[in-house]
Amino acid sequence: MPQNGRYGDFGGQYIPETLMNEIHRLEEAYEYYSNNKEFIEELDRLNREYAGRPSLLYYAEKMTKDLGGAKIYFKREDLNHTGSHKINNVLGQCLLAKKIGKTRIIAETGAGQHGVAAATAAALLGLECEIFMGREDTVRQALNVYRMELLGAKVNAVTSGTMTLKDAVNEAMRDWTTRVDDTLYVLGSVMGPHPFPMIVRDFQSVISREAREQILEREGRLPTAVVACVGGGSNAMGMFYNFIGDKEVRLIGCEAAGRGIDTKETAATVATGTLGVFHGMKSLFCQDEYGQIAPVYSISAGLDYPGIGPEHAYLHETGRAEYVPVTDEEAVKAFEYIARTEGIICAIESAHAVAHVMKLAPELSKENIIICCLSGRGDKDVAAIARYRGIDLHE
Ligand SMILES: *Cc1c(COP(=O)(O)O)cnc(C)c1O
Repeated sequence: MPQNGRYGDFGGQYIPETLMNEIHRLEEAYEYYSNNKEFIEELDRLNREYAGRPSLLYYAEKMTKDLGGAKIYFKREDLNHTGSHKINNVLGQCLLAKKIGKTRIIAETGAGQHGVAAATAAALLGLECEIFMGREDTVRQALNVYRMELLGAKVNAVTSGTMTLKDAVNEAMRDWTTRVDDTLYVLGSVMGPHPFPMIVRDFQSVISREAREQILEREGRLPTAVVACVGGGSNAMGMFYNFIGDKEVRLIGCEAAGRGIDTKETAATVATGTLGVFHGMKSLFCQDEYGQIAPVYSISAGLDYPGIGPEHAYLHETGRAEYVPVTDEEAVKAFEYIARTEGIICAIESAHAVAHVMKLAPELSKENIIICCLSGRGDKDVAAIARYRGIDLHE
């Protein structure tokens, strides 16, 4: 449990004075609704009847046999409505927005995954929705811009800075300070000022709540390790959370190393980052020698955030969780391998976790169990993988 929004030295609320009152109101409202029976039941119903929960815990028998070590299970967040774990968070936050009387939500998005999920939940719950997206990203991800518009959202192209995700967060924060009366900022990962890292983690913790029950029912014992990819860290926090108290369960986060952690083209925050304050929180960030946020790179748009949520920084510092870098090439190989072996085209983000499972499973004996979070489906990535392999799809 965080003390005043702190995870050890990490976290906190580094925000403009004008947001402080609203953030405190949000803390109080969340404290109330997260313990409110009606709210919990309503969210549970949305999760079941709309998002398709519980998600499957799937035994990957072919991969297990082929790799010849630990038993491999996948937590299938890719089968949720909208195709990833992001729906878990947006349903929770949009329902909270409604309860506290907001009529409008805003959200940042990089590749567009969180923007599409937020626009989806807003459409369902009858909230006005505006998305902030770097102009570079609106060009690269034009299809997702149109998706959000189909869902009734307005997409604002952000032209400051590098015109990417970090600038979209800045702009969303700025918008929020001018319209706190009717608006909730629906943050997309376990980042930003307290209480966001806690709220997002709580809504995502449904992943490990289910997985823990499912594996105990299937195998009668806990896994040796749970593995998940880490961008800001929400699917990983969701996958870790209910196993944190089980000291025998290894928690492993897989960061995007891009072209390698010894190059500048990387997004591996734990491997290459340093302590800093950005986007309202104290945590680890990729920074240059002047303490400026460094440009980051990964083949996976969902993992190229220059920071990591404060609770991950804490789990890393205390040694409770391990973080490993996975390169573009390793992730693409894993993407192809799980498709061929299990008939699952997973998100390139999730393929970073699969790549580590491919290394880990053969090192462990057959009595061990690994649960890997498949954070999303990979339809969105097929064209980029073809390009990476030099295949011309005549697009
Ligand atoms: C957004 C996204 C991620 C990265 O975000 P986290 O907050 O680190 O989970 C990972 N996988 C998929 C499929 C995503 O859409």
